[in-house]
Amino acid sequence: MATMDRTARSFLLSELVSGMWLTFRYMFKPKATLNYPFEKGPLSPRFRGEHALRRYPNGEERCIACKLCEAICPALAITIEAEPRDDGSRRTTRYDIDMTKCIYCGFCQEACPVDAIVEGPGFEFSAETRQELFYNKEKLLRNGDIWEAQIAANIAADAPYR
Ligand code: SF4
Ligand code: SF4
Repeated sequence: MATMDRTARSFLLSELVSGMWLTFRYMFKPKATLNYPFEKGPLSPRFRGEHALRRYPNGEERCIACKLCEAICPALAITIEAEPRDDGSRRTTRYDIDMTKCIYCGFCQEACPVDAIVEGPGFEFSAETRQELFYNKEKLLRNGDIWEAQIAANIAADAPYR
């Protein structure tokens, strides 16, 4: 009986027809894929992407060189050196993140008392060499300048849940 059933199904091409029917049905459903990089999906305000150092609206850098982010980083990816300025304030002279070590845990952002170091919405930062993934202070501040509006909006959107 099973042999006859298999033979009949082979002659009637039932598996081919059911496969074509499935394809036909999905032709009229909304697409589940994006035409990346021309189309991009939504990102959560909590998305943990490329790091950035933020400034206050007057241009002064937020970081006060407390080194909490360096201490909490489980990957030992952050290196900070600091000196007091002439006005007595304390600022970093070196702020490096080795992005090849970073595991994007977000602990540095959580530890920062002044919301200076953040993981922004940038995720398209692949590089061809390791050197390009050693971020220094200038690079991190530049990221902050580029992403500030988005970062501030994300922090404000997440604030009620913290
Ligand atoms: S995200 Fe985590 S691993 Fe990466 S620098 Fe911050 S604390 Fe370190
Ligand atoms: S980024 Fe934040 S936690 Fe890290 S040294 Fe600066 S103020 Fe402290």
